[in-house]
Amino acid sequence: MRTLIVVIAAALILAAGAMNPLNLTAQQPVLGYDDTPMQPNGKWRVHDIKRPRPPVVKPGFTKLDPVPAPGDATVLLGAGSDLAAWQMMDGAAPTWAMRDGVLETGKGMLRTKAEFTDFQLHVEFATPSDVKGDSQGRGNSGVFLLGKFEIQVLDSFNNPTYADGQAAAMYGQYPPLVNASQPPGVWQRYDIVFTAPRFSASGAVDKPAVVTVFHNGMVVHNATAFWGPTAHRKIDPYTPENAKGPLVLQDHGNPVRYRNIWIRSVTGYDAGASR
Ligand code: MG
Repeated sequence: MRTLIVVIAAALILAAGAMNPLNLTAQQPVLGYDDTPMQPNGKWRVHDIKRPRPPVVKPGFTKLDPVPAPGDATVLLGAGSDLAAWQMMDGAAPTWAMRDGVLETGKGMLRTKAEFTDFQLHVEFATPSDVKGDSQGRGNSGVFLLGKFEIQVLDSFNNPTYADGQAAAMYGQYPPLVNASQPPGVWQRYDIVFTAPRFSASGAVDKPAVVTVFHNGMVVHNATAFWGPTAHRKIDPYTPENAKGPLVLQDHGNPVRYRNIWIRSVTGYDAGASR
């Protein structure tokens, strides 16, 4: 009988754990992992808890005025409530709120209707001034280049997390060279130059995707190659579908604002039409 009671008690405890598998009330912020695969560089694990976080550098401005789009840019996010360039991933009309030129993340990922390959991209964003959550749960969104390669958006102002997951990281691959984050609620900017991966006819990778990123005017990735599409706690290989794709903004359950997003295609030298 006593054995039966012990067994029943153990089963009840297990069932309670299953109902609250994340044990949210007692959870500490996840600052990294020590059980993930080694990265191809052989030095660090994916989201390595031991990887040093980059130095904090104060941006050279406190207030960001919207950066005007050059004449040949395509404005993806402009004034008013215009979301004509965007749709949900299933093709439905956008459900994210857009007002007075400011977009707030909502439920589900938002993508551009157009697809891109090689480009220069300007993005302005702000994490919530009402600070909630820790680590990856604070101001998390992301700019997915071709829908596959994430430049992380996160509140990384006094918010430790794993180095390759903080703001401006090539998520899961490289931390930014410096932490250039502004305080919560303050508008920030990414300026991104991206070259899409190239594949041979057999589907093998000829050239990986390469990115240069400026965060608030500071270079944080300098012509760095992605070793594959973005993944969480694992390493995914390239596939030929990675050769082109939309710009995707991530819904990570935190309210993040975006404004003034524009893109210019980048061609090779001597591609101009005039002489
Ligand atoms: Mg993210």
